Amino acid sequence: MEYFPLFHKLDGKQCLVVGGGAVAARKIRLLLKTQVRLHLVSPKLHRETEELQNQYARLQHSAREFQAQDLNAVELVFACTANKSLNAEIARLCGEKRIPVNVVDQPELCTVITPAIIDRTPILVAISSSSAAPVLARSIRQQIEKLLPPNLGKFATLLSGFRKSMAAKISDSKQRLRLWQQIVDGPAKELQLAGRDKDAHKLIQQTIDQGVEADVQGEVYLVGAGPGDPELLTLKALRLMQQADVVLYDRLVSDGIMELVRRDADRIYVGKQRAEHSVPQEDINLQLARLAKEGKRVLRLKGGDPFIFGRGGEELETLAEQGVSFQVVPGITAASGCASYAGIPLTHRDHAQSVRFITGHLKSDKTNLRWPELASGDQTLVFYMGLVGLPMICQSLIKAGRDGSTPAAIIEKGTTTQQRVIKGDLQTLPGLVMTEVVRAPTLLIIGGVVSLYPSLSWFQK
Ligand code: SAH
Repeated sequence: MEYFPLFHKLDGKQCLVVGGGAVAARKIRLLLKTQVRLHLVSPKLHRETEELQNQYARLQHSAREFQAQDLNAVELVFACTANKSLNAEIARLCGEKRIPVNVVDQPELCTVITPAIIDRTPILVAISSSSAAPVLARSIRQQIEKLLPPNLGKFATLLSGFRKSMAAKISDSKQRLRLWQQIVDGPAKELQLAGRDKDAHKLIQQTIDQGVEADVQGEVYLVGAGPGDPELLTLKALRLMQQADVVLYDRLVSDGIMELVRRDADRIYVGKQRAEHSVPQEDINLQLARLAKEGKRVLRLKGGDPFIFGRGGEELETLAEQGVSFQVVPGITAASGCASYAGIPLTHRDHAQSVRFITGHLKSDKTNLRWPELASGDQTLVFYMGLVGLPMICQSLIKAGRDGSTPAAIIEKGTTTQQRVIKGDLQTLPGLVMTEVVRAPTLLIIGGVVSLYPSLSWFQK
C-alpha cells in the first residue's frame, strides 16, 4: 500500500489553497463541507471561486501571488495553479515545513491525495486508485453510490444517539457488540429509511432495554419488479431484494431479476398461469402474513407495478387486517415498459390525449367493459392479459364505432431480449396473431399512436 487512508479533522483549522481556477473551486467546495477556515491566494478568481467567496465568510481571499509566509500556521495545502514550477516550489516548501500538500494533476509532488467520496455524513466512503486510475475510482464510486440509500447518514446519527445508553446498560463489551450487530442488520434500519423515525427509535430502545433483540415482527415488501429488463428495477426495489429473508415470486418475474435477490434468501414460487392458479390468492395472502409474523423480511416480488392488475391491494388488505407492517415499491408497469421499448408513445399530441389501462381477462368469456366509451378515437387503449380475448376485443370496438383501420399491436415479452412486435389494425391483427406462435406475456396497444411503429423503434432493431 503506497498511501495510508486517514480521515482528516479540519474543523476550525487553517488550510491554504493556491490558485483560483475551476479546479481550485472544486477543491474549495469540498473543503467547505467541513468547518475549515480557508485562505485562498490567487491574483484572479474564476467565476465559481468568486461565487464561493461571496457565500462563505470562512473563505478569505488574498488577490496576489503566493508568498512563502502563506504557509505559516497552515495544516493542509492545495496547490492548484496552472504554473507547474510554482506548484513544485509550494510542494518543496511544504516538505520543509512538514505540511501535507496536494498538487493538482502532479501526483509525484503530493504527500496526500484526495479520494473519490460518497458522502452520507456521518458515513463517508472514500475510494482511491492511489493516483493510478482516477476515472476508475469514480466509476467504482458510482456503483457503490447506488447501494447506499440517501438517508443512511440519518440512521448512523440515530445510532450514535444510543451509544451512551448502550454503554451504561450493557457492560459486557462482547454482548454490546452482538446487540449493535443485531440492530444494524435488523428491521430498525429499514423503518428509518422508510421515514418511520419514531418506530425505529422505539425498536432500538426496546432492544437495549431488554438486552436481547426485541421480539420483532418481520415486514412485507410488496415490490414491483418491472416488465422484464432487470435494469428497469428501482434502486429501492434492488435494496429490498438484497436484504429479504424470503421471496415469493411469480411467473412474470424474469430470471435476470431473480438473480439479483439475496443469494441465501428462501425462494417460494407462487406463479400463476392463465386458468391455472397454482397457488390460490387467499393462500398467498395468508402465507405472507405468517412469514412476517415469524420475524422474517418477506419480499413479495411482482411483475410490473404491484398496484396495476397485480392484486397487490388484496395482499395488503390481509396484512393490514392482521397488523403486519408493509411497504410498497412501485415498478414500471408493462404498458410503460413495452411502449418505450417498442417506440410507441402512449400519448401524442396528434393521436391520443389520454391512455387507458384495461384488463382483457375474460371472466366466463364475457367482459363487462363499456365498449362505446372505449371506441372514441382520441385515446390509446392498453389491454393487459388481452391475447385470448383479442378477436373479441377488436370486434367489440369496431361494433361500437371505432374504425377498423385503427392501428393495433401486440408486444410479446416486452423489454426482454425476446421482445417482438406484431402490428396490424383492428381488422387484421387477430388474423396475423393466429398465423404466429405467440408466447405470453403479451400486451395489446390500440390507437393512432401505433402508426408511429416502427419509425421510433430503437430496441433490438
Ligand atoms: N402488474 C403487472 C401486470 C400484471 S397482469 C404490470 O404492472 O405490468 C399480467 C399481464 O401484464 C400480462 O398478461 C401481460 O398482458 C402484461 N405484461 C406483463 N409483463 C409483460 C411484458 N414483459 N411484455 C408484455 N406484456 C406484459
